[in-house]
Amino acid sequence: MNIAFYSYKSYDKEWFNKHVEGTGFKINYFRVKLDKSTATYARGADVICAFVNDDLSKEVIDILSETGVKMIALRCAGFNNVDLEAAAEKGIPVYRVPEYSPNAVAEHAVALILTLNRKIHKAYNRIRDGNFSLSRLTGFNLQGKTVGVLGTGKIGRVFADLMHGFGCRILLYDKFPHPSLEEKGYKYVDLSTLLKESDIISLHVPLLPETTHIINRGTLKLMKDNAMLINTSRGALINTEHAIEALRNKKLGYLGIDVYEQEEGVFFHNLQEQIIDDDTLGLLTSFPNVLVTAHQAFFTREALDEITKTTLQNITDFKEGKSNGNLIPTP
Ligand code: NAD
Repeated sequence: MNIAFYSYKSYDKEWFNKHVEGTGFKINYFRVKLDKSTATYARGADVICAFVNDDLSKEVIDILSETGVKMIALRCAGFNNVDLEAAAEKGIPVYRVPEYSPNAVAEHAVALILTLNRKIHKAYNRIRDGNFSLSRLTGFNLQGKTVGVLGTGKIGRVFADLMHGFGCRILLYDKFPHPSLEEKGYKYVDLSTLLKESDIISLHVPLLPETTHIINRGTLKLMKDNAMLINTSRGALINTEHAIEALRNKKLGYLGIDVYEQEEGVFFHNLQEQIIDDDTLGLLTSFPNVLVTAHQAFFTREALDEITKTTLQNITDFKEGKSNGNLIPTP
């Protein structure tokens, strides 16, 4: 099997080269993102391997099909960037890595909370600059605070357990609740109750038409004054302009995001020497109570190992015609 590997970074190459040995697969790495201008690079490949910001719209899938691509292997969990109907029309199955390390993402959400709350990023910079003052570093105890978990799938459940460990009261919201979580003392509530009662709200639902901008002017208004909002799921769950409005009028006390609606073309790149043409991101990063990381929640050794092994296993299973639960069902 020949694999056209898009949007590769040095760490992808390191992990895939390590695990591809002995499979007989040949990987052709492309630094560029997959889109309609780069799709023909896949000519001669049986499989394309794509990541979160690669474009798998109908137009791109049609080109991939013409070049002879037979399978799409996503090396991520989310698949909001894939037109599944277009892939099904062309008879191209789409596989993903549904679970590589829920702990990696959940732990990063906790890292954002602790950093924003205890201002570790500011303390680090101050001390490097010889400033040992505590002024404006006041935080709050997590113990006894209410944490709202929006989406109680694999990541949301680990996150709830971690925050419960800090002594927080846990409120849950999900379209398909897992009643067993209530045995731990957590409580499922409707969305508006979760928003009204939580001191910290963390988003763990996938990006779907119905969840796009689930955080908007209306839902932000329901939140407690000075609440903390964390998003490690997908950028477009939050209407960024509305969140900025809520930060400006001091409704939202803290915002921690690992994902951003317009992250494509910015996140995963070193743009140190460039002027970043995104005033919204510039504004967000200038606020003292906003913390942005560049889609790194998944980025642990354990997760990279699992992503690589599962992606290669998906390709092996496809080649051998074996059924595999990582195949995304056609809508
Ligand atoms: P999952 O499928 O296990 O859980 C998603 C949960 O959301 C499910 O319980 C589902 O019932 C619920 N849900 C779906 N639609 C809903 C709706 N309309 N309203 C309420 N609940 C709804 O997914 P997961 O593995 O926990 O991952 C969650 C998301 O995290 C992924 O979709 C992905 O976008 C994101 N993610 C981000 C990173 C990162 O590095 N930042 C890494 C992996 C995953």
